[in-house]
Amino acid sequence: MHEDLKTKNKKIRVITTIAPLYSFTKNIVGSYAEVENLLPSGAEPHEYSLSPEDVMKISRAQILVKNGVGLETWLDKLTAQGAGVNKQVVVDSSTGINIISGDPHIWLSPKNAVIQVKNIREALVKADPVNAEYYTKNAETYIKRLEQLDRGIMKITSSLKRKEFISLHSAFLYFARDYGLKQAAVIQEFPETEPTPRHIAEVMNVIRTNNIRVIFSEPGVPHKVVETLAQDLDLQVSNLDTLEKGAFYPEWYEAMMRANLEVLKMAMGQ
Ligand SMILES: [Zn+2]
Repeated sequence: MHEDLKTKNKKIRVITTIAPLYSFTKNIVGSYAEVENLLPSGAEPHEYSLSPEDVMKISRAQILVKNGVGLETWLDKLTAQGAGVNKQVVVDSSTGINIISGDPHIWLSPKNAVIQVKNIREALVKADPVNAEYYTKNAETYIKRLEQLDRGIMKITSSLKRKEFISLHSAFLYFARDYGLKQAAVIQEFPETEPTPRHIAEVMNVIRTNNIRVIFSEPGVPHKVVETLAQDLDLQVSNLDTLEKGAFYPEWYEAMMRANLEVLKMAMGQ
């Protein structure tokens, strides 16, 4: 109670760009800082454009947590212009992660998530030293949970009968790398862009050559190409969530990763 009163008036404001970063940050700060996510639920981070309200939100925050790896091109443009948003501490959560060129979806491996959490913690501790001990302790607890999630995924993926899959857009390279799977091809060469007939022919070739039985589409994305491919080649279609269009609560990241794991188990277990 006493602590709360002391910190109440000087709570720092943190803006995160995408939902996984919101979960990560919220688990570190608890109620000691204000966290807000920039992209509303359902917004597409590959094609986002900032509204004037977004720019206001950013300018009011002391810390801006971004994914990095070129995901937030719309943000990098703004910060390059200076537009009153260059007073913030900008945390590039990808610092120290072994990047796979062309895939910004680092958060889909909990091994990367641990590094992202450490980067966010470091910035918070620096920007708000009064609460440093609290943030450090919370981060430790959360990292333990992420490590538990990692072990759970390892246990399931190591026993999967099938290791290769096709996904809608190139999002699962880190997940595949860290858990011994292979994203053999993607339907969309570029996110949110219809594939060319030539590309589809290549994907069909990969599917046939590797005897792939599963396509992972994404929830809420009706996709004609996926349906046609599945029908023509007698494939199973399941949905894996890329966690880009999220909801905003601390346990969301872990819940979504566990839901994905169930889908994988069902689709590739036999
Ligand atoms: Zn994506």
